[in-house]
Amino acid sequence: MCEHHPTLPASTPRLGRRAVLRGLGLTGLGLATAGGLAQVTATRAAAAEVSQNGWPAAPDLPLSTLTVDGVGFPPGIARGAPHVILGWVARQLAERVEAPVDPGCWGFSYRPVTGGTALSNHASGTAIDYNAPQHPIGASGTFTTAQVAEIHAIVASCDGVVRWGGDYSGRKDEMHFELNRPPGAAVDAVAAKLAGGTPPRPTIREGSQGAAVRDAQTLLNAKGGYGLVVDGIFGPATTAAVRDFQAASGLAVDGIVGPATWAALEA
Ligand SMILES: [Zn+2]
Repeated sequence: MCEHHPTLPASTPRLGRRAVLRGLGLTGLGLATAGGLAQVTATRAAAAEVSQNGWPAAPDLPLSTLTVDGVGFPPGIARGAPHVILGWVARQLAERVEAPVDPGCWGFSYRPVTGGTALSNHASGTAIDYNAPQHPIGASGTFTTAQVAEIHAIVASCDGVVRWGGDYSGRKDEMHFELNRPPGAAVDAVAAKLAGGTPPRPTIREGSQGAAVRDAQTLLNAKGGYGLVVDGIFGPATTAAVRDFQAASGLAVDGIVGPATWAALEA
């Protein structure tokens, strides 16, 4: 149902463009104002589009960043329930199936299903590709039997709203996980359940180590271009980046990544 993204750079031009547009105040409807009637029409047409699973799709869809064990899923996931559910799936895959590789994990991509005209669920930010190089589209048996059992257990925990591309009846896509229900109560219920079962991000500070630090370093680099080494060790350079990010985000500047700073990093 999807494409993989073997040639996309980790930092896509789309994000850069959005950032520039945001800086100029030209995002969303502002873009149409600046661009005239043709772009007004294009904006309205885009707003009515949905991907194959019924979720709103658009080239400039608002996204939330997803990072798991220091590996991003650029350029992000649709905000709200899709981010909660697919984020949970990705973290479970990392813990129970195999570690994420970078580059190799992907989120939003505005394009049709390969070989078709319907918009891919990546175009609505409701699909992820996990370790694409290890699990190429069309290949079967790229996971062991034990890994497949874990994947099926993870998907089962999502109460029928998530589908794995390895379970497609046609061409397999074992890297691919997607929402397969439209927006609504079923998806919201699963998101609420999974969010309730997800421990909040730990508060980390200089001296902290581990996966949460790697995630913070990855997010700081993505949001602020700090060029931190993603080593999971919270040292002086990470503290300086956190303080700078906090100042730029209007947060209290203490160099500690607590709930408010996590929220800003993952927005
Ligand atoms: Zn995919």
